[in-house]
Amino acid sequence: MFLKCLECKFETSDLDIKKCPNCNGFLVLKYDNLEFTRDPKEIGIWKYNAVLPKLTNKISLGEGNTPIIKATQISKELGIDLYFKNEGTNPTGSFMDRGSAVYISFLKDCGKKAIKCFTTGNFGCSIAAYCSKANIEANIYVHERVNHFKLLQMIWFGSRISMKYDEVLLKAKDFITPADPMFLEGLKTQFLEIFDYFEGDLPDYIALPMGSGSNIFSNYKAFRELKEIGLVNKDIKFIGAKPDEEASRAFADLDPSFLYCKGLIEEIGKSGLLLEATAGKEEMVKAMDEFAKKEGILVEPITSISLPVIKKLIANKKIKEGSKILIILTGSGLKEIGSVSLIKNKGFKKLKIGQEIGFTKRMILEVLSTNSLSGYELWKKLREKGIEIRLPTLYEHLKQLEEMNFITSIPQTVKNRKVNIRCLTKQGSEYLRTLKTLEH
Ligand SMILES: [Zn+2]
Repeated sequence: MFLKCLECKFETSDLDIKKCPNCNGFLVLKYDNLEFTRDPKEIGIWKYNAVLPKLTNKISLGEGNTPIIKATQISKELGIDLYFKNEGTNPTGSFMDRGSAVYISFLKDCGKKAIKCFTTGNFGCSIAAYCSKANIEANIYVHERVNHFKLLQMIWFGSRISMKYDEVLLKAKDFITPADPMFLEGLKTQFLEIFDYFEGDLPDYIALPMGSGSNIFSNYKAFRELKEIGLVNKDIKFIGAKPDEEASRAFADLDPSFLYCKGLIEEIGKSGLLLEATAGKEEMVKAMDEFAKKEGILVEPITSISLPVIKKLIANKKIKEGSKILIILTGSGLKEIGSVSLIKNKGFKKLKIGQEIGFTKRMILEVLSTNSLSGYELWKKLREKGIEIRLPTLYEHLKQLEEMNFITSIPQTVKNRKVNIRCLTKQGSEYLRTLKTLEH
C-alpha cells in the first residue's frame, strides 16, 4: 500500500500525510496486489477489508450495508429503470460515516488523541460521533450557516465547537478533511455494495450531489479499481448534481466553493465519464416532496438534487429512455426535519425555520432579546460569549437581519454622538421563540 499524487505522480509509503509534499496535489491510496474478496465474518463496510487499508483498530458504529430500492413510481413516470441507495440509514444519517469509520480507525492506529476539522454540517456530525466512540477529542470549526439540528448533534456527541471558520483555517495542514486519502477509501464502499447488489449488471449511470467532489471521486475510484482487475467491463457515467447559485445560498450544508476539490473532479473528467448538471432550489424542494410522497423516503435538501438533474438530462436527450440509473441518496431528511417548512411554504416567500439563519445571527437575536444595544456594545457582548467576529462582519449580519425584518435600528444621540440602537422586532422575537420550541 502506498499513496500516489494525482498530479505529479509522487509516491510514498508514509500513509499519514494528506496532500502531496511536492505539488500539494491530492493523494490517493494504491494497493500493490488488489484482490476483491469479501470477508463473510464481517458486516457493513468491513466486509470489504481486502480492498481497504489494513487497520488494527476498528472504530465502527454499524456503517454501510445501506439498502438499494427500486423507485417504482418515479421509474414509470420518467420511463427509466431507477434505483435509490439510501445512505440515510447510516449511524449519523449520511454517507460520511463510511469515511469516518475508516479514517478515525486509521488515526487511532496512528495514536492520535485529538483532531481538528471544519464543516458545513454532515462531515462534522459524523466525525463527532466516531471520535466519541474512539475516545479522540474532536475540535470542530463550524460554518456559520450550519443547520441548527446538525450543530446540536455535534454538541451532543461532546465535540468542542468553534465558530471561527474562515479561509485562513482551511489552509491549516493539521485539519482533517473529506478529501484525505483514508476518508476517500471508506466512501469507496458505496460502489462495492452497488457492484454486489447488481451482480455485474451494473447501472448505466450513478447520480449523486457533487458537493466537494470527494464522494463522487471515491465511487469512481472503486469503479476503476474493479475495472482494472477485470470485474467490471462496462463504462458507467457519473452524474455530479450541483446546486445553482441561488440554491447554494439558500441551503445549509452546501460546501462553500473553497472546499471544492477540483483535482478529484478533474480526474473523473479525464476519463470522459463525468456528466455535470445543475438544479435550482425550487426544483430541489419539489424533489424532496416527490421522494417523500411517491417513494416513502425523507431526504435532506442537497440529497434531493439528483432527481431534477436527471429529469433535465432526459429532457436534453443526454440520458436515453430505458436507462438504468442509480441515485445515491446521501443524507436523511430526519437530520433536517425543519426542512418540511420548505415544502409547506413553496415559493420561499417567508423565512424558513432553521434554514436561512446561521449561528452568529441566532446569537445576535438572543443577545438583543434581553437588551437593545448599539453595534459596538453588541460586538462586545458577543465576544463575551466566545463569538469573535470582526466589527464589519457584525454590521453585515445586522444589515441582513434588518432586511429580514428581524431587527430594527433606532437612531439616538449619546454624549453628542449619533448611534443606532438595534432592537428586536415582533417578527424577530417570534422567530426566536419558534426556534427554541423546535429545539426543546
Ligand atoms: Zn504531487
